[in-house]
Amino acid sequence: METATITEPIVVHSIINGEKVKSEKQFPRENPTRPNEIVCYAPINTREDTIRAIDAAYNAVSEWKWTPVEDRIARMRKAIDKMKSATPEIARLLSLEHGKPLYDAEGEIAVSLMWMEFACDHVKEVVQGEVREHDKGKTIISQDPIGVVSAITPWNYPISLSTIKIAPALLTGNTMVLKPSPYAPLAVSKVVEIIASEFPPGVLNIVHGEADVGVELTSNEKVAKIAFTGGTNTAKHIMKAASETIKKMTLELGGNDAAIILKSFDVNDERAMRRLVISNFLTAGQICMIAKRVYVHRSIYKEFVDKYIEAANKWIRIGDPFNPDVTIGPVNNKKQVEYVQSLIDDAKKRGAEVIKLGRIIDEDVFGQGYFMQPTLVLGCDYGDPIVVEEQFGPTVPVLPFDDEEQVIQLHNESIYGLTSSVWGDEEEAVRVARQIEAGTTMINTAAIQGLDVQFPFGGVKQSGVGREYGVEGIKTYTETHVINIPTELELPYIPE
Ligand code: NAD
Repeated sequence: METATITEPIVVHSIINGEKVKSEKQFPRENPTRPNEIVCYAPINTREDTIRAIDAAYNAVSEWKWTPVEDRIARMRKAIDKMKSATPEIARLLSLEHGKPLYDAEGEIAVSLMWMEFACDHVKEVVQGEVREHDKGKTIISQDPIGVVSAITPWNYPISLSTIKIAPALLTGNTMVLKPSPYAPLAVSKVVEIIASEFPPGVLNIVHGEADVGVELTSNEKVAKIAFTGGTNTAKHIMKAASETIKKMTLELGGNDAAIILKSFDVNDERAMRRLVISNFLTAGQICMIAKRVYVHRSIYKEFVDKYIEAANKWIRIGDPFNPDVTIGPVNNKKQVEYVQSLIDDAKKRGAEVIKLGRIIDEDVFGQGYFMQPTLVLGCDYGDPIVVEEQFGPTVPVLPFDDEEQVIQLHNESIYGLTSSVWGDEEEAVRVARQIEAGTTMINTAAIQGLDVQFPFGGVKQSGVGREYGVEGIKTYTETHVINIPTELELPYIPE
């Protein structure tokens, strides 16, 4: 087994205008598996650093937006090749700083590369625009770059949620300043360094820090678009900061995704049950689109719970992210452990039964790190905090329902609407799915297993604004510009 320890903490740099910049002030990022070990020191950039990065992106965009799309694609493909070769190193850094098992880190990089390739393959469709000949003349509809994009990302999928923004933004002729989360600054910095090295200085910049850097990125008048992934409450601050200069926005926010298990679901289908367990607990439940509440038809509820526990106990093996037998590592940070634990404690106080799932296979690290044994929570009320709030951790409430109407209502009462899933007979499931308020609904699968980069992804209600992935996710980095050339130049109703 490769070691999950590090001999010397890595010093992370910012990249501003093509140069690696070392910050005077730095913050330590600990290893969530062994929190007394520092994985890296990342910069605490100032507002002045952030302004320099925005200026660099602003100066670069005037030339970059006119660079032929073929040139942009060729540069991105070179970056993809370099990222592919560097995958083992990037995955190792990601597991170390994040706590996700190595297979999970490699999966995140693989999805990122898949998307970057899709964006290269499809960007021409978007930027070529169209020319419409019609009875009143000719109209050119062009899709132009927007300008400087501020990208702000969370800690749970730092690489895929950054490249989901970097690839379409740069390919369509924009420039970018990216700010990752302080809870996972290392691996994404490596990725940005690789990509930025293939592009002219200033096209892709990265700064680090907390809200003050974020505030500059979201209010500076030279920033034309914000691409944000993170919590719904943070998004409210961002919308306010951006309102002064009416910035364009894509917001990918929180979710409280439900899995709806219909009466027709076969509880003895071991593969389906395993998929469900994975869609509750992959990455220790720290995924925006993980199934965070499960509603089961009352007629199969008891049998379902028994079979679920059986499947979960097989798949869930908790321990060191570098142990190849481990499926679930630690939670990313202490604050998140405390928050998830507070929801579980509250549920217990309200009378819920909390069942531990899986096996701890590395006892030594379990005692040291930010580990939580995954749990199933039974006997909750529909309105309990653990049911209605986004837990974003390894615990899931399972509740019975009586009929389709009730479960659709329970689903749609949420302020969120990111993804959802319906499990059972396909026809019935699709009928239920059509009535669900969500950006994506998956049938007989959920979360990342049902994700496909060729289709637009995003939330309704307070789960977001706009879409990423798919051709739609490329187009969102462009502005429509209409050049109208009418044949009838003068309007008959306007007097001489
Ligand atoms: P967060 O909102 O706390 O932080 C996200 C980013 O915003 C970080 O880089 C943070 O430093 C920055 N930030 C904080 N305050 C800011 C401010 N005032 N202005 C600008 N930037 C600011 O989120 P998190 O805890 O890192 O991530 C977890 C959340 O992200 C969950 O709610 C999860 O559902 C959501 N998420 C959504 C998606 C999606 O695609 N919809 C994907 C992953 C995560």
